Amino acid sequence: MNELAGKTALVTGGTSGIGLAVVRRFTDEGAHVFVTGRNAERLAAVSAEFGEAVTAVRADVAVLDELDPVFAAIARRGQGLDVLFANAGGGEFAALEEITWKHFTDTFETNVGGTVFTVQKALPVLNAGASIVLTSSNIDVKGSPAFSVYAASKAAIRSFARSWAAELVGRGIRVNAVAPGPIATPGLSGLAAEPEQAEALLGGLAAGVPMKRLGTPEEIADAVLFLGSARSSYVTGSEFYIDGGASQI
Ligand code: NAP
Repeated sequence: MNELAGKTALVTGGTSGIGLAVVRRFTDEGAHVFVTGRNAERLAAVSAEFGEAVTAVRADVAVLDELDPVFAAIARRGQGLDVLFANAGGGEFAALEEITWKHFTDTFETNVGGTVFTVQKALPVLNAGASIVLTSSNIDVKGSPAFSVYAASKAAIRSFARSWAAELVGRGIRVNAVAPGPIATPGLSGLAAEPEQAEALLGGLAAGVPMKRLGTPEEIADAVLFLGSARSSYVTGSEFYIDGGASQI
């Protein structure tokens, strides 16, 4: 239970789903975790649940000025940053003929721009030996109808993991990506056009996985703990698929 004792982490989008499971796993392992998200009520709930083990800061990753206070708070604490889980993101379905400029820019500003500038702004506080874990998706190597902009945004994340691993290897900083398959989160259910369609959507997604089920946020958190800790000390530039075999077999 002490794999991250004395370590400081940042989880963007840590108030729900995968990010929240990672906050829980990291605090269980002894880390102090900075947590971001846009919704103040969800951030307050995280503060109430984890107490002094977390520092919650409201910030939209797609708004550059809102990122600065996050890193100012980390700098003020004076212990740098050992693990950065750049996870905030999401998507919506849109067939090719339905893609609007707003759909495109919203998706790319959050998933791609948010990740680029979160990592860039973290550079001054990252400790030697730090680990950066990006959230991609197994869709980055698949063709999926009506999800092409999201898929392209996640393919960009996979590419950034390679380039940034090359750029930061000299500082002893590792960069990897996790590629979840369909994971039972509020974000996944929220892809349904109407709440009553969520069950059918989730059932259809589970049926497409060789293991015939959705993954859990905790199963992603285990992989993020591996990549974020010294257990993966010889792993950088890679992508870890946690998808019940959906993209691999
Ligand atoms: P979720 O339950 O909707 O959680 C998303 C988290 O990100 C929330 O804390 C949300 O809080 C935050 N967030 C969203 N947009 C943000 C923004 N612009 N700035 C700051 N925080 C933001 O979704 P999830 O399923 O856990 O997804 C987490 C990540 O995994 C995403 O990058 C997603 O693309 C990826 N992923 C998910 C699956 C899946 O099946 N669930 C599969 C592959 C990849 P606020 O709304 O309060 O900001």
